[in-house]
Amino acid sequence: VTSPDTLDFGFDVPARPGMTEAEVLTPALVLDLAAFERNLGKMQDRADAAGMKLRPHGKMHKSPWVAERQLAFGATGICCQKVSEAEAFVRAGVLDVLVSNEVRQPAMLDRLARLARGAKVALCVDDPGGVEAAATAAFRQDATLRLLVEVDVGAGRCGVQTPDEAVALADMIRQSEGLRFAGIQAYHGAAQHLPDAATRKEAIASAAARLKPVLAALKAAGIPCPVVTGAGTGTFAHEAASGLWTELQCGSYAFMDADYTRAIGPEFEQALFVLTGVMSAPVPGRAVCDAGLKSLAVDSGLPLVSGVECVVYEGASDEHGTLSDPARQLKPGDKLRLIPGHCDPTVNLHDWIVGLRRGKVERLIRVAARGKSW
Ligand code: PLP
Ligand code: MN
Repeated sequence: VTSPDTLDFGFDVPARPGMTEAEVLTPALVLDLAAFERNLGKMQDRADAAGMKLRPHGKMHKSPWVAERQLAFGATGICCQKVSEAEAFVRAGVLDVLVSNEVRQPAMLDRLARLARGAKVALCVDDPGGVEAAATAAFRQDATLRLLVEVDVGAGRCGVQTPDEAVALADMIRQSEGLRFAGIQAYHGAAQHLPDAATRKEAIASAAARLKPVLAALKAAGIPCPVVTGAGTGTFAHEAASGLWTELQCGSYAFMDADYTRAIGPEFEQALFVLTGVMSAPVPGRAVCDAGLKSLAVDSGLPLVSGVECVVYEGASDEHGTLSDPARQLKPGDKLRLIPGHCDPTVNLHDWIVGLRRGKVERLIRVAARGKSW
């Protein structure tokens, strides 16, 4: 891997270690490393206190360096959503990955099976064809794949609907050479960002009510289920309290975003920002910055302006952000931090995360799995 030091500042990279924050080229993704580390410690403590494993979701950061920090804080491995993401992590030395998703393209199952020759690799299935396809790939590549049966616990997305289906798939996996039954995937995606705490709690109570008979049916069939994995930043306390889940998959807690803080409050600190520069202040009350849709995801709302009162990010176009600035505080050349609405798709727009500590650039963090979506 090429060291960032040999890369061209201003073309390949937006910063160099030792620079001040004001010297970072904009727009750039910046990470407050101290806040990030406090978030990692807090979530690991929560998992430890519940006697659970933490397998943070790497789809959020797509960065092997961040995954290594999470492992150093005590995580058991990482999740990713796509085979190409898993490859980016394993190539960088992260050797325990769960693709928390169904995979059906034979060529991608072959790649995953090849990866499993040098790492612990798991994926999800929710139908017999998925088990067959995984077994075929494992056979072709002379590898072992770990399979989790995904149960739909209320998100209405992937996953089997009944305990009988779950048992039948687990059975089929156990009888397939090259496959191991690794447990149950039970993630309630639709519950995570619900704005009301009581509604999130109810959603996980109902997820637990769907999960319980599945675990009972496996037990009755004499099938050991070593792992029950799921949960995200919005609901993990409820999965932890249920006694049913064994592993947490939270992702956003490490960086956070405006939408999550609106929903769950300030327990985890905002560590990720888009640093933007003011390009123009053409009329009183309006400033224009250099971070638009190509550096910020707006699916969960426009970004918030951090640290400056009365300035509001009001509109995003491809390369511009329009700011209302009634007190005329901003002038061209100023830099300010924006809090993205949604961290995952924002990170995927950037090649680098600039790690900051005490106002200085400490390191450049490569978003190695950026754009790895297949
Ligand atoms: N697990 C799965 C399967 C997910 O799809 C996601 C995110 O969408 C997560 C865990 C992590 O969730 P969050 O970023 O809300 O913590
Ligand atoms: Mn997300």
